[in-house]
Amino acid sequence: MNADSDVAHPAASAPNALAVAADGNVHRPLDRSARVFVAGRRGLVGSAVCRHLRREGFTDLGGPTSAELDLRERRAVFAWFADARPDVVVLAAARVGGIKANATRPTEFLSDNLRIQVNVLDAALEHGVERLLFLGSSCIYPKLAEQPIREEALLTGPLEPTNDAYAIAKITGILQVQAVRRQYGLPWISAMPTNLYGSGDNFHPKHCHVLPSLIRRFHEAKESGARSVVNWGSGSPRREFLHVDDLARACLHLLEHYDEGGPVNVGTGTDLTIRELAELVRQVVGYQGSVEWDPSQPDGTPRKLLDVSRLTALGWAPRIALREGLAQTYAWYVENLGTDALRH
Ligand code: GDP
Repeated sequence: MNADSDVAHPAASAPNALAVAADGNVHRPLDRSARVFVAGRRGLVGSAVCRHLRREGFTDLGGPTSAELDLRERRAVFAWFADARPDVVVLAAARVGGIKANATRPTEFLSDNLRIQVNVLDAALEHGVERLLFLGSSCIYPKLAEQPIREEALLTGPLEPTNDAYAIAKITGILQVQAVRRQYGLPWISAMPTNLYGSGDNFHPKHCHVLPSLIRRFHEAKESGARSVVNWGSGSPRREFLHVDDLARACLHLLEHYDEGGPVNVGTGTDLTIRELAELVRQVVGYQGSVEWDPSQPDGTPRKLLDVSRLTALGWAPRIALREGLAQTYAWYVENLGTDALRH
């Protein structure tokens, strides 16, 4: 690649240029036989994206797992791209974790995520991948951003310290996508999902996010007959939860209907307190004991609710209500107890 180039990348002149539909929105269906690389296809997001694309008729969903290709290894990533030559990339690979994992291992969260992103994005550019979706997170926004958080809040204030390393890495990814658009004219895009959950989540007792942690804790307490459970923090922070199957639909929708450099929020537009979430999980699991809170554990950011009007204006809406999604996720957890799916 010529770093001094000021002309569009060759892939930018590919034949299937974006069309503008009668409703004013961009519309370009992706070729169902395109070779799609979902980076992170064993993870919560990647596996949901693959399931959805398969359902939508995509036939060439290749790509190595993290055990087969370490995306932090630059040479290996470039060699893989040279050989596989994907047409479409969904970058869903990342080192992720809950509030404690992020707060205690900022070095790995920063370094691993930066390397994964830079390697995949650089290799995709080098090999002329025309369509690419980069996935970030709602934690990229300032800790005290006005709620609900609009995309314009990016880089307007200090970050939440418990996940600033992860956030900075993800912000870098958005900027790299924008730089490639500006310099090479490729229609790459970014999406920022809110807190996600669903089948295939990580249920590690210390490192996972709040929702799988509550499912596991209430389930184990029910099984052992414990009289009470202790959750982290005050229970007062507010969070928004999106089922990962809804995110997967949003990913394809954006690839087919969005072509701008600004990131797009993906969420439900409604939130609840962690205390309310715990009560819902308690009911779904069927635990009868009492619920206590440990204020010595971190609360994190007080509220993180996304403004999703940019995405809904493009014709997408979430379909899975929280209670229904929770019941489905709990059923998946019970089904997979004792299997590799839960050994993270
Ligand atoms: P965050 O959304 O980035 O803050 O990450 P989490 O999903 O890990 O935590 C969300 C909120 O849930 C925080 O206020 C935590 O204090 C609270 N919480 C309550 N119990 C738990 C738990 O068992 N695990 C986690 N990860 N968070 C919990």
